[in-house]
Amino acid sequence: MQCEMCGRDFPNTKKVNIEGTTINACSECSKFGLGGNVDESSAGSATYIEKRLENRQRRMREKNVYDRNIRELADDYPKRIREARNKLGITQDELAKSLNEKKSIISQMETGSFTPSERLIAKLESSLNIKLTEAANVAVQSQTTTVKGRALTLGDLLQAELDKQKE
Ligand SMILES: [Zn+2]
Repeated sequence: MQCEMCGRDFPNTKKVNIEGTTINACSECSKFGLGGNVDESSAGSATYIEKRLENRQRRMREKNVYDRNIRELADDYPKRIREARNKLGITQDELAKSLNEKKSIISQMETGSFTPSERLIAKLESSLNIKLTEAANVAVQSQTTTVKGRALTLGDLLQAELDKQKE
């Protein structure tokens, strides 16, 4: 059958409505037909809302994944560093040198008056062969405060859906 739009011959053509006129068009040309058939403003907004919901869902998923992977510095990190260093039988000075840091940084960390950066935490963990971080429980905390004191929103429903999927 011949496509009435481009004039080429195709084994299959579709009937499409273009600005009130029904014609036979190939799959390529029939894409253009949709614009004349559907109320563009409502089609546009439906797509818009869908996109927004999709994005929102994705954001929440990412947030949850992120929360679950959050690791925070353990409260007793000074003790962990000191004990690991003593076990290895090295001085603060020697540890500092091996980490390429100042001795004062080591002594301050062992008293808890200096919080190591993520980079330094990683260095300490690998050279002392210890763990200085623990999984943070952020996701659980935020869930329990989600729906208190206000009406359920679409976001809450989505969140409940997501929580169900995780279980
Ligand atoms: Zn065509």
